Amino acid sequence: MTTRIAGIETVQVSLPTRREHKWTGLTEPIGGYILVRMEGENGLVGWGEAPALKDWGGDHGRYFGESPATARLVIETYLAPAVIGRDPAQPALLHGAMDAAIKGYPYAKGAVEMAAYDLAGRTYGVPVHRLLGGKVRDAVPITHSIGLLPIDEAVEECRIVVAEGIKTIKIKVGVDPERDVEIVHRIREAVGPATRLCVDANCGYRTPYEAVRIIRRMEPADLIYAEQPVEGIDGLAEVKRAIGVPLMADESAWNARDVLEIAERRAADIVSIYTTKPGGLYRAMQVAAVARAAGLISNVNGSVETGVGNLANLQLAAAAEPVVLSCVVPVSMPAEHHAGRIGGVYYVDDLIAEPLAHVDGAVPVPTGPGMGVDIDEAKIERYRVETADA
Ligand SMILES: [Mg+2]
Repeated sequence: MTTRIAGIETVQVSLPTRREHKWTGLTEPIGGYILVRMEGENGLVGWGEAPALKDWGGDHGRYFGESPATARLVIETYLAPAVIGRDPAQPALLHGAMDAAIKGYPYAKGAVEMAAYDLAGRTYGVPVHRLLGGKVRDAVPITHSIGLLPIDEAVEECRIVVAEGIKTIKIKVGVDPERDVEIVHRIREAVGPATRLCVDANCGYRTPYEAVRIIRRMEPADLIYAEQPVEGIDGLAEVKRAIGVPLMADESAWNARDVLEIAERRAADIVSIYTTKPGGLYRAMQVAAVARAAGLISNVNGSVETGVGNLANLQLAAAAEPVVLSCVVPVSMPAEHHAGRIGGVYYVDDLIAEPLAHVDGAVPVPTGPGMGVDIDEAKIERYRVETADA
């Protein structure tokens, strides 16, 4: 029944986007990511993804950006030799071997570990959420993310996605205080009182004082939370004490140790958990455990993964207890199934063989073996690109 990891290949893909999706600090198009194809000695295949972005990192250089080129180099040179021959169903040992081979690089490690979970689930014929302790929810409510768009365009997109059933909208801010305050109120006016709204500044405000002033002006629009207005745990703590909406830590909350620090310093009400920031699902569940112990609630957030990484996000959201908020995960959909909907849809095509369902603002958790949906290898070939040099 058990298997061993027989081989690992990496592929860079570039998925075409529905519209430009930007946030504060992002300098590259999304969707140019590294995939890991892991083959078991039993002939089964698992897939993982490193949605590596060179300008995405932790507070004050605490975690570095990874690019597709660095992720590929680290996986091929250090991580593949460390895990080949090992049991994919032993994530703690896989992490030990990867950490001994090279420090850091959680996105590269996360891609390998995700592929191992997929392979293990397919080997045992169970969905990955069973390997994470079992699912505590059957569907994951989706937050639609409004990137840094012109206000009129953003308002129009919000109207459409609400009509499609989206119940929570995240508005990217952090650029210009006047514009940020205006867009929040304009969107509230357009969608009415029932839709939940939140803002994410991606550390874009220069000081806690500036962040507090801006968020207070947004408060009449009834936000469910304000996400990472400034860089750093100290700054977050200062903002949290002065605003009337819950505060979410994202860039400040990469791993379990960070969440412990946030809890000790009462720096946030909510932490955003990713599959990738802590280096994979096993460690993301540890982040969730610390959040739960500290009385923090969470969502699952990501970097607009392709369907490959997004399936892992859904398995995590299904199994992690503190994830009671709606999640910024895409509704991954191959082109053949698009039917004109845009709620939760960021790419015009995807790499999974079947579309995710979108029912009443939520995605039902895939329950097939491994990550739950098969990968379309012909699509991967179609979107394969050469990796630029590091
Ligand atoms: Mg964020």
